[in-house]
Amino acid sequence: MINWYSAAKLGHYFLNEVIKPGDITLDGTMGNGHDTAMLARAVGPEGKVYAFDIQERALDNTRLRLAAEELMDGRVRLIQDGHQNISQYITDSVKGAIFNLGYLPGGDHSIITLEENTLAAIKQALKLLLPGGRMVIVVYPGHPGGAQERQAVEKLLENSDSREYKIIKVNFHNRPPSAPGVLLIEKAGDSFEGSAS
Ligand code: SAM
Repeated sequence: MINWYSAAKLGHYFLNEVIKPGDITLDGTMGNGHDTAMLARAVGPEGKVYAFDIQERALDNTRLRLAAEELMDGRVRLIQDGHQNISQYITDSVKGAIFNLGYLPGGDHSIITLEENTLAAIKQALKLLLPGGRMVIVVYPGHPGGAQERQAVEKLLENSDSREYKIIKVNFHNRPPSAPGVLLIEKAGDSFEGSAS
């Protein structure tokens, strides 16, 4: 059974439903590597994970986590750059993508994802998403700037074409407004039934 009361774990569940061995995936905010490791497990040795972070510490922590799980091999590419530059590194289409926004847990809480970069990255990643592919965005409105960033992301997605993207928003109903939330986006594919009903 999944731990669906954790925003990040819920995101993993949504992605694991579609990602198969050999797929290409993207982690837009590698942080401590939990999401990168989940993607690396899901794609297997024949697949690929492109993971981004601006902080060297995030790359170090992720490398250690992957090595401990014997996942630090050719399937993973760790990139120390902003996710706003995704399209400079990835031209392949991706089956799954995750953006776990905010600050590095255990790190400098003043280094956070910024609205302008986040929106630029999400737009680029949506273009790379395969039909039937999914993107998960975990939003954290509890830190300064976090609520504004969530609002900007939600506005961007609200204005997307419902014939092209199925989108749901998950909030924890009996937790404070500062609790994290999850946005799930699926690009139109074979199983897509449209937006009418
Ligand atoms: N996915 C991570 C995990 O599994 O542990 C958690 C990510 S943490 C909540 C957010 C991360 O976003 C931080 O490590 C921060 O350095 C990173 N970040 C901030 N701005 C960024 C940017 N422009 N591009 C890529 N990463 C960025």
